[in-house]
Amino acid sequence: MPAILPYVDPDPGSQAKKAVEDAEKHVEWAKKDRESMEATLKIAFGSALRQMGVSEPKEDEGPACNVCLEGYNKEDRHECTLHCGHRSCHKCLTGLPEKLCPICRKEFTNEQIIKLF
Ligand SMILES: [Zn+2]
Ligand SMILES: [Zn+2]
Repeated sequence: MPAILPYVDPDPGSQAKKAVEDAEKHVEWAKKDRESMEATLKIAFGSALRQMGVSEPKEDEGPACNVCLEGYNKEDRHECTLHCGHRSCHKCLTGLPEKLCPICRKEFTNEQIIKLF
């Protein structure tokens, strides 16, 4: 009767290691998939915007009011400056509860709101 030898894995942990490697590969693929999907979406979104005649939003898209963060226009959001030199749109300056510069809190009057071109 042969002796029953206990089963010895020649390389214990190799199965587990392989499983981990496989899992890592899958994570890597999933990541690549997501990246390419995001890139595709970005391109599609950008071209859709361009087709609609909307330019892509940029960080440095000209001056904007630092109170309402809207770009200046020639209507209600006319770019204005105060005697302290800070700028804001006309709508924000005239709509302030107190006549204080929104940046340095210097007092001003409506006559001191200078409209810029
Ligand atoms: Zn504003
Ligand atoms: Zn100011």
